Amino acid sequence: MPPAIPSKDLELIQKYIADNPKLDFYCPLPFSHFSSSPDGRYKPCCVAKAAPYTTRDKSPLEFFRCDVMEQLRRDMAGGTITDHVMDYCKRCLITEAQSGHSKRIEEVKKHGRTVETGKFNSIKLKLFGNLCNLKCVMCAPLQSSKWAAEVIEHGPLAIEDPSVPDSSLKEIAHATEWPVRGFPADKPIISPFQQMDQAKFYRDMEYIIPRLKTLEFTGGEPLINQDILAFIRWIIDKGWNKNLNLKFVTNGTCFARDLTFLGRFKRVRLSISVDGIGARGEFLRFGTRFDQLRDNILRYQDIKNLVVVGNTCITALNIGYLDEIFAFSESVGLSFKLSNILVAPRYLRALNLPDTLKQRYREKLEKTKWVDQMGIALRILSMKEDLPQFHVLRCYLEALDSRRGMNVRELWPEFYGDPANPT
Ligand code: SF4
Repeated sequence: MPPAIPSKDLELIQKYIADNPKLDFYCPLPFSHFSSSPDGRYKPCCVAKAAPYTTRDKSPLEFFRCDVMEQLRRDMAGGTITDHVMDYCKRCLITEAQSGHSKRIEEVKKHGRTVETGKFNSIKLKLFGNLCNLKCVMCAPLQSSKWAAEVIEHGPLAIEDPSVPDSSLKEIAHATEWPVRGFPADKPIISPFQQMDQAKFYRDMEYIIPRLKTLEFTGGEPLINQDILAFIRWIIDKGWNKNLNLKFVTNGTCFARDLTFLGRFKRVRLSISVDGIGARGEFLRFGTRFDQLRDNILRYQDIKNLVVVGNTCITALNIGYLDEIFAFSESVGLSFKLSNILVAPRYLRALNLPDTLKQRYREKLEKTKWVDQMGIALRILSMKEDLPQFHVLRCYLEALDSRRGMNVRELWPEFYGDPANPT
């Protein structure tokens, strides 16, 4: 059956394929990697569609060897965009069409072409659940227990504006829904790991870890998750730490008390999310105290063996302020590269912004000394606006704002003039 893709995205993908008839859509990840969602659904990678298997019915290794992954490997080996590839990997197709950049392209640059499955380059385990201390604007209850607690208390985010189309209301309801499947409605913290066959999980890890280069943790917030820290101690007890790299994607707001394990691994990389500076950063990564984040970045950089880098997910809310993020990163000595582009939810995409505002942002960014590092962003700022989605974004922000007591109109005054000619 052809994949269900919204018509605008399908048009974007079809044009990209037509413009690139020789495109070899190969990706190394299905051969040497897998991921999982905080609700226990397995995925070929963190940006791919979730497979119809969870930690309840398959162990990690059983998923890696399942029919979905086998089919993806067969299709990828030929570089062909079959319906199966389009279904599971549409996010890479969309970001490539928007910016010429994608996770797939990054992975090909890093790992080249291989069709062997005997070794794992990396695995990303989110099956430890959604425990988190923040509730970021672009996040959702599935990834954040704080978001889930807000939805349990106040219900899903409701938008009153009758001009917002049903499809967008459904998208917002879906993004803020609670509970997620198979978990209780009244408890904000979910942990598939706590519910799965842990003996089988550890048996699989005895096979995988000695064949693995990099073990990645993301959230929730991995540095406050005791199950993750216990798993890391188990790896050290087994003696596999010296040949293994660890990677954490963290919000940087928690300074883990016991970091003595870091020195025992081959290399440890801490990727700290910086999506906005000062008050805008605190709005976007709600619950952050920006001065504390800055202090933690400096403290983490003092730890031996730890490689600390910044990462930013480009959205409508920060594309015009990337110069501030570059300046901040420079001021704290944080190495930083733009590579993540938000695809979902659609209303937060940078692409949506009105053309006039995009032009203003572009002129501002082009005058900065970081212009050579902003190619992806400048390309998005040259693409055509999507004003209906921009309207949904404004309604979403206002609804969130009135619940959380911030002032979005002060932080992004340029969003609240005439949409075709923002102030
Ligand atoms: S093509 Fe993209 S979505 Fe598919 S596995 Fe590779 S990185 Fe993930």
